[in-house]
Amino acid sequence: MGHFERLLHYGGEVIQYTVRVATGRHERVRIHVHHDGTVEVEAPEEATAEDIGKAVQKRARWVHDHVHDAKRRFEHVLPREYVSGEQVLYLGRRYSLKVRHVPRDKRSVKLKGGLLEVAHDYVSTEAVRARVRAWYKVKARDYFAYRLGVISKSLPWPQEIPKFQLKEMRTRWGSCAAGGTVTLNPFLVRANRECIDYVITHELCHLREHNHSPEFFRLLSHAMPQWEAVKRSLDEKAEIILND
Ligand SMILES: [Zn+2]
Repeated sequence: MGHFERLLHYGGEVIQYTVRVATGRHERVRIHVHHDGTVEVEAPEEATAEDIGKAVQKRARWVHDHVHDAKRRFEHVLPREYVSGEQVLYLGRRYSLKVRHVPRDKRSVKLKGGLLEVAHDYVSTEAVRARVRAWYKVKARDYFAYRLGVISKSLPWPQEIPKFQLKEMRTRWGSCAAGGTVTLNPFLVRANRECIDYVITHELCHLREHNHSPEFFRLLSHAMPQWEAVKRSLDEKAEIILND
C-alpha cells in the first residue's frame, strides 16, 4: 500500500489528487471528492500510473465540477467565534452556546436544556473552542463506545467489540486499520444518531472487507438497508459538522 500525489489538468486548471494503492479484490479505479474538495483516488495494485491517469482524465469534468461545488459550499460556512448565542450541534440537535466568565475553580461545560453552557476563567474564541472540543471528545468517546458495542453484537462477524480511537480529521468520518482498530472522528458526535450508526456500521464492514468491493457494499446494505440516504444526509451537513 502507498500514497502519492498526481495532477489532473482540466480546462486550464490543475487539480491535485492523492492516489492510494489498495490491495485485495478491487477491480477498478475509484475517485472520491471529499467534502472540502480534496480528491482521493483508490487504485488496484496492478494499475499502472498511465492507467490511473487515464481513468481520472476520463472523469475530469465530473471531478472538476465536484471540487468546485465542495469549495463553494465550504466558503459559505462562516468561521466559528464561540460566543454566546452561536449554534452548536450535538447528536443532531441544535444547542445555543452560552459563555460565562467564572473563577478558575468554577470552570465547567454542561448541557442545560437547549443550551451548551461553557463557564471559563478566560473567555476568548480559542479558549472556548478548546473547552468545547474537549467536551465533544468526552461525549464522542462514551457514545461511540456504546454504539460500537451494540452494532458489533448485531453483526455476525465481529469476534469481539473492536478497539477504537478518536482522531480529529478534516475529510473523513472514520477508518478501519488492517489490525481491526476503528478510528472515528470526534466531530461526528455533532451528527444525528442514524448518521453515527452509519459510519460505525461502515467501519465494522471493513473488518470483513478492507476495500470498497462489491462484497463490502453487499454487507453494508444488509446491515443498514437505508445507508445511501443516510450517507447523503451526512455529506450534506458535512461542512457544518466539520466547521470548528
Ligand atoms: Zn470505507
